[in-house]
Amino acid sequence: MPHREFFATSNPWNSNRPHVLVMACSDGRLQEPLDEFLNTALGISYYDRVLLPGGPGALAPSGTEFMRTARMTEEVRFLIDAHQIEEIVLVYHSPAVGGPDLAICADYRRLYPTFDAERIRKQQEEDTDLILKGPLSSFPSEHVHAYRLEVTPELGIHVKKLA
Ligand SMILES: [Zn+2]
Repeated sequence: MPHREFFATSNPWNSNRPHVLVMACSDGRLQEPLDEFLNTALGISYYDRVLLPGGPGALAPSGTEFMRTARMTEEVRFLIDAHQIEEIVLVYHSPAVGGPDLAICADYRRLYPTFDAERIRKQQEEDTDLILKGPLSSFPSEHVHAYRLEVTPELGIHVKKLA
């Protein structure tokens, strides 16, 4: 990696807040597909981002990491208030049916070491319900959108709407 003392970006500061919060997994293998989906399919280019292992899963009260869930909920609620968030996009990732196990989210793998890809996909769907009823219950549910990037057997990425 080159060492740089100074760099000026060609993009100026965007003084308008986007009012959209995207919560997705840290997994860098999905960076470009995620931005392509947000940009092309949803028309979102600028957005507030919460990138954490597991993405929205970090908010789900289903796992065993209660302290983490409570802390992340506080952080997201802070952003909702401080940045006047109007839309929330939750993005999970997983293999599609028949897709490579290597595409399983490492955070879901850690929390549910005995689950296969199908059970993890089911867990993500259950987590979405729990997040809507729990951590985001005070946010209008019609403005919460949940998707999953699914890696196909051909290593393409399809996006499925979960909520
Ligand atoms: Zn992940």
